[in-house]
Amino acid sequence: MQELTDLYQSVILDHNRRPRNYQVLPTANRVGSGNNPMCGDEITVYVKLNNNCIDDISFQGSGCAISQASASLMTLNLKGKTVAEAEAISSDVYKLMISGQADEKNFSDLSALAGVHQFPARIKCATLPWHAALNAVKDEVTPATKEKTPS
Ligand code: ZN
Repeated sequence: MQELTDLYQSVILDHNRRPRNYQVLPTANRVGSGNNPMCGDEITVYVKLNNNCIDDISFQGSGCAISQASASLMTLNLKGKTVAEAEAISSDVYKLMISGQADEKNFSDLSALAGVHQFPARIKCATLPWHAALNAVKDEVTPATKEKTPS
């Protein structure tokens, strides 16, 4: 487990320090958001969906290192995927975090999220951005302009 812990720490720290695709996506036609009041995490995911394919994806948010790093990893892994593929990857990632077993499939950087298994209270933090992304791509009627803004 030491290797997994090291991978977890290095990947989470790296993505928290330098989150990838951290921006509002000007071309986005879907927006999804989520928050985790237990921890104070907030995530907004921007998706450019084209023919059921995630052409581009970005996020903005605030919160703990795990939620931000998970969001960053998510954008890297969902870009270019179909909605069905995105659902499958999200499901695999969830199983990864619940089981803590990263060796069954090659998840590359996503393997690091298996480390969340050691911190059950943080699983919600890590799954938050994935839920927000799925909400965005599966919602048929919510254009970016209808996005709820926090008051
Ligand atoms: Zn959190």
